[in-house]
Amino acid sequence: MAFEDLLEDPVIQKYLHELVGPKGMPVAAAPPDGEVTDEELAETLDLELNDVRRALFILYENDLASYRRLRDEDSGWLTYLWTFEYENIPENLAEEMERLLDALENREEYERNHEFYLCEVCSIRFEFGEAMDFGFECPECGSPLESMDNDRLVVAMERRIDELRTELNIDIEA
Ligand SMILES: [Zn+2]
Repeated sequence: MAFEDLLEDPVIQKYLHELVGPKGMPVAAAPPDGEVTDEELAETLDLELNDVRRALFILYENDLASYRRLRDEDSGWLTYLWTFEYENIPENLAEEMERLLDALENREEYERNHEFYLCEVCSIRFEFGEAMDFGFECPECGSPLESMDNDRLVVAMERRIDELRTELNIDIEA
């Protein structure tokens, strides 16, 4: 099996699992050395051919596998020879973390720059403007809307943002 060191990393296992799902995981978790056909994988791993193909296609869409087609001169049948390209995993993961970091930073800014009101009965949160439009009464149940402190949420988000930046080696001053 190829890429054994990479596949020992639980973060990478989780990433692959999220991509291909439980049925595709046997395919994703056992990349062979060199080229392989979908039929060979199905037989070796004792899986349905469709599940193997589905997993391979997802890996292909994520730049983690490539194929070349061979046509049998006699039968005209096409054979797909697959190569796993897990050397791209670290870069994919970094991109995913950057997307997550972007989303978190936007969310943190939104939380920091808005005031919120809460209906404690319905657990619905309103922005200040909305709460004012409703006369600070819950439109669902009529309870008074209470000013809500989101400082702890903001602090937790800032901590997570710092962690992500550290993992991505992003200079805080940059
Ligand atoms: Zn309510």
